[in-house]
Amino acid sequence: MMRLANAPAAHFDLEPFQSVAHRELAGCPLVRAGVCLNPICSQHFAPRRPWQKYCSEACRKADEAEMRRIGQRAAPALLAWRLGKYETSDAPLRDLSRAGRNYIGHLQTEWLRSRQLRAGHMRQVPVGRKTSEGQE
Ligand SMILES: [Zn+2]
Repeated sequence: MMRLANAPAAHFDLEPFQSVAHRELAGCPLVRAGVCLNPICSQHFAPRRPWQKYCSEACRKADEAEMRRIGQRAAPALLAWRLGKYETSDAPLRDLSRAGRNYIGHLQTEWLRSRQLRAGHMRQVPVGRKTSEGQE
């Protein structure tokens, strides 16, 4: 029987998103420079470093805790989605994969909406829906 205390920690060599997408985030940051990324706060502040995203240590810790909670919700669905992504014959695995994909879509939509509401600038158009602008 495997001793969990002695089991190797999860490890793989994928860098954090903010490292992989550094250039893209610089071109299109999640919030404007000088606005706190913590949606509850969203205060304007003078960054001491170009990469500073939070106005304070408390805001950084609060938002990182929220991101951990979202990650914990997303993780099993991400695994389920990927496990059956290319499955062609195992119907229960395809169903599980579809449930994972659907859950991730809902989680993304609800989390973004929640952050926008808390930041006080919720768009009038629901997330994921197209406007009728430009159409006649
Ligand atoms: Zn803040």
